[in-house]
Amino acid sequence: MTDAGTPPCPPQARPPQEDDDEVALALASVRQAIRQAEAEAGRAAGAVTLVAVSKTQPAARLEAALAAGQRVFGENRVQEAAAKWPALRARFPDLELHLIGPLQTNKVRDAVALFDVIETVDRPRLATALAAEMAASGRRPRCYLEVNTGEEPQKAGVVPTGLEALLTACRDGYRLPVTGLMAIPPHDEDPALHFALLADLARRHGLAEISMGMSGDFPLAVRFGATHVRVGTAIFGHRPVPAC
Ligand SMILES: *Cc1c(COP(=O)(O)O)cnc(C)c1O
Repeated sequence: MTDAGTPPCPPQARPPQEDDDEVALALASVRQAIRQAEAEAGRAAGAVTLVAVSKTQPAARLEAALAAGQRVFGENRVQEAAAKWPALRARFPDLELHLIGPLQTNKVRDAVALFDVIETVDRPRLATALAAEMAASGRRPRCYLEVNTGEEPQKAGVVPTGLEALLTACRDGYRLPVTGLMAIPPHDEDPALHFALLADLARRHGLAEISMGMSGDFPLAVRFGATHVRVGTAIFGHRPVPAC
């Protein structure tokens, strides 16, 4: 029997599962590590946004992260994101979705419709297509330019010496809402140099958002000025299917 003044507990959407606890605990520990790195770097608490990378993860783990209050997510494939997120967006209108994988021009329409931030703008042809689609749809997701800080031939991103020209074309030519830079440092190098370079490029070009740092190195990225860290396996565990 409940008191007249006490509302009954809301029914649980689903029974709790093992996954839920694991994801909630891992999320809490990643958030704690971010807070600690912010404090150690003399940065304000909350200066860094956690982008939870949910590519290839099963729905139950996404639900667990959402239940634990996570609202910013990263996906690396447009098609996969389009299958997973529209229904969740209807339930969680405050979601913010980041595209963190390569974008083909033929997927630009879907990407503009779905994402709030497109982190992988790296060439004029893509910028042209994005500008056209933003004009047609009226949606204007924020854009980050992806920088290939290691100048790796097989990797996406504009090389550092090409950044200024691409930025000028995107901002002044195509009038894209460019607000930041993103980088994925080479696997086999000390990421610190790459984080420092990306932060320096962002500062010099007056871009406020800096997306760098993944499961293995996000506290270091925070120390170097990241405003967004992209963390997958440290939150969700290993990906059940390899993501490309
Ligand atoms: C998968 C991915 C991540 C997350 O990597 P983890 O090591 O699982 O944290 C971050 N950024 C990009 C671009 C990715 O594709």
